[in-house]
Amino acid sequence: MLEVKDLKTYFYLDDDQVAKAVDDVDLTVKAGETVAIVGESGSGKSITSLSIMQLINKPGKIVDGEISLLGRNLLNLSNREMTKIRGNDMAMIFQEPMTALNPVYTIGNQITEVLRKHKKMNRKQAKRRAIDLLKLVGFPRAEDTVDEYPHQLSGGMRQRAMIAIAISCDPKLLIADEPTTALDVTIQAQILDLMSDMKEKLEMGLLLITHDLGVVAEYADRVLVMYGGQIVEQSPKRNLFKDPKHPYTEGLLESLPSVHNDLERLGTIRGMVPPAHKFPTGCRFSSRCPHAMDKCFESNPELIDLDHEHAVRCYLYTED
Ligand code: SF4
Ligand code: MG
Repeated sequence: MLEVKDLKTYFYLDDDQVAKAVDDVDLTVKAGETVAIVGESGSGKSITSLSIMQLINKPGKIVDGEISLLGRNLLNLSNREMTKIRGNDMAMIFQEPMTALNPVYTIGNQITEVLRKHKKMNRKQAKRRAIDLLKLVGFPRAEDTVDEYPHQLSGGMRQRAMIAIAISCDPKLLIADEPTTALDVTIQAQILDLMSDMKEKLEMGLLLITHDLGVVAEYADRVLVMYGGQIVEQSPKRNLFKDPKHPYTEGLLESLPSVHNDLERLGTIRGMVPPAHKFPTGCRFSSRCPHAMDKCFESNPELIDLDHEHAVRCYLYTED
């Protein structure tokens, strides 16, 4: 349903440097599937999702690749055509609902605006539908909520309202970028459960951007691990947790507290993601990798298939 090929999104900095924030990313999301992109901040996961929505602003630019949704290459569309697709065929939920919601309009108005624009409903139909949507996402008094303003809702309820707006036009693809990072842990689970329910009900594909492996473990079907603007490992969730291949994935998993991992054994990956205009010549993880060999500093490995569903970008898994 969503197919991204060879995506490159670069940022052209003042001093003629180029930050290769997303560099050759391939991904697919099928209907009904939850694909998680996981990585530290600076790994390129948010830029990937913004590129899919075509919300990249200067000095950033999508310089190469293909993004097709339901068989149409979005990169060939005009701004007007793209505006029709955004909010209609695909919708996005951001980390901080307060910045995505307009504080001067009621929740109802923000839903009806989308419905009137994309679905050509009249005022009455749109309001009816807004109330139904608010009920669907768990507002017990939807008839009242529809006339309330964002500041009258709690953080969790605002995120529910965002979900109502996002699903109002039955999108095929929902992109959620750290949708619960700003919320309390108990509310986080409720919001993720809701998104997961909506995904099933509406048969959407869900692209979930997160730095939280606990969230991945609970909700993802497939996982893409990003580092330095590239996918370094991809696999169905169960293989990734059982049998991680890339040293970066291993490091991430070691820093995950679990029943087997008491706090004293918590590993962390030394160092930080290098800035995107200063990636090393070789493997982008080489400056932090405990297994780095000579060739790791000379050239960057390709993403290679270990089997038809598990792929890794690392010289530990190549023949020569
Ligand atoms: Fe480590 Fe080398 Fe593999 Fe990169 S290619 S992750 S430096 S072992
Ligand atoms: Mg981010």
